[in-house]
Amino acid sequence: MKICWFNENKLGLVEGDSILDVSAALKVLPAQSYPATTKGDPLIANLARVQDEIRKLAPGARKIPVKGARLLSPVAAPTKIIGVPVNYIKHVEEAASQTDVFPLRHQQGTVIDQGFFLKSNSSLVGPSEGVKLRFPDRRNDHEMELGIIIGKYANNIPEEGALDYIAGYCIALDMVVRGTEDRSFRKSIDTYSVAGPWMVTADEIPDPGHLKFSLAVNGEVRQASNTQFLLLNIQKQISFASQWYALHPGDIIMTGTCEGVSRVLPGDVMHCEIEKIGEMDVKVEAA
Ligand code: MN
Repeated sequence: MKICWFNENKLGLVEGDSILDVSAALKVLPAQSYPATTKGDPLIANLARVQDEIRKLAPGARKIPVKGARLLSPVAAPTKIIGVPVNYIKHVEEAASQTDVFPLRHQQGTVIDQGFFLKSNSSLVGPSEGVKLRFPDRRNDHEMELGIIIGKYANNIPEEGALDYIAGYCIALDMVVRGTEDRSFRKSIDTYSVAGPWMVTADEIPDPGHLKFSLAVNGEVRQASNTQFLLLNIQKQISFASQWYALHPGDIIMTGTCEGVSRVLPGDVMHCEIEKIGEMDVKVEAA
């Protein structure tokens, strides 16, 4: 099932070129108390229940074309966005060779040496919101990645069975200003985390370790690879992350970028595709 948030926080079921408005399914969510007694995104935490309701509503739902919809992030409120650095060998090599672009830290080893980082939740947007560059005079790069959406509480879990903790997948853009400041600082700017165009539930992608993906800027392909080249695969990423902190429903892991990261400027349009998920266009503007 492909589930999205669209327009003014409507819940959508994507079928072909259409979005069905299934916002009424949200009525099955348990009443929220404040402060919340459990962490995580309420929709993702109650996904099975919401999906049952979506199936009931779909036949009578109002339909709009995908092209006419304003697509938001498929997770409204993650407790954290986890970044996985230098996780494709060819990106490790480009980081080590372009010493004028990447800070020393980024040039030293792989994800195994560097561990993960966090991006601010407030940086998260959907594809239709676009990326708004804060420092267009500096080098702002796209990093095209597979996004994983965690489905349930995961604390110190083993690799084996780790895929069972995934609610679904999306396209992720880990945008960054290159420079010497801390990585999380440079990747937490408003709009520098893009997730979309929807969440594809995990049952539709039994093997996330073999997905082709690509990113083009203004029609020119800049990044193209396959998740089979991940150094730390998806099972290992979930297990490793959960050894350091608990994962909660809706947490997003941006699984790492392949080679070909390059600069974007105001006016550019990034076209992103991942096999079995879909495609999305993201505009770049000055903030
Ligand atoms: Mn990245």
